Amino acid sequence: MLVLVSDNNDQAASGHGDIGVVLLELQAIDTAHDQSVHRRDTLTERVDHAEAVDRMRNWESQRVTTIGMIGEAEAGIAECEEASAEIDSHRKRLEAQLKTVIAPREAEALQHEIATLTERRSDLDDRELELMSVHSDAESRLNELLAIEGALRAEVAGADERLATAESIIRSELESLAARRELLLPSIPPALAKRYEAVRSKLGVAAARLAGSRCEGCHLDLSAGELDEVRRTPDDRIPDCPQCGRMLIR
Ligand SMILES: [Zn+2]
Repeated sequence: MLVLVSDNNDQAASGHGDIGVVLLELQAIDTAHDQSVHRRDTLTERVDHAEAVDRMRNWESQRVTTIGMIGEAEAGIAECEEASAEIDSHRKRLEAQLKTVIAPREAEALQHEIATLTERRSDLDDRELELMSVHSDAESRLNELLAIEGALRAEVAGADERLATAESIIRSELESLAARRELLLPSIPPALAKRYEAVRSKLGVAAARLAGSRCEGCHLDLSAGELDEVRRTPDDRIPDCPQCGRMLIR
């Protein structure tokens, strides 16, 4: 497809050489834009930031779990102590009763009950010791966690700042490219601009230089016949690359 460089209502384009240069500049701006967007979307700063946030979240969840373990152990210890105190007073009552009992069978029953209580009391002591050990381990773990909190928060803040800086640099690049594009567009005839956009949306790169017999868009050589046809294209028209369809700037 050939498109006239000069539209009837456009005076800015003056000959194919100039408009070719303008199109290549537009292409350079758009390529730089695509590269900036790609860089913005694949910033290592974003990966680092996500990792730092992940570590912080993981820390937070460990802290909550550990505090929960401490609370559960404390509640368990309190329960053990309460049950032990009840057993102690019950046992004391039975022991006092035993001193007043005369019938051997009754004394035997009391002794059996006291022995059972003593056994339960001993089990509770074991359980309490276990819980104390869990409590002490959890306290140590919590202290370890609290010791690294500052470093983790600083890591997130640093990663946050580095990401914001990287994003802001790319944002400025994109703004400056958009401004340059805005300035360039009026010098391109609308029909040509439309053709440029159509090819760009299909192929990414719309305008490519013809270097010798090679299209710099697809890096393929044109045959002698194709080259001849391209060369015979009038100066006020921009030919397509017969291989890739890009606008070929001579
Ligand atoms: Zn090509």
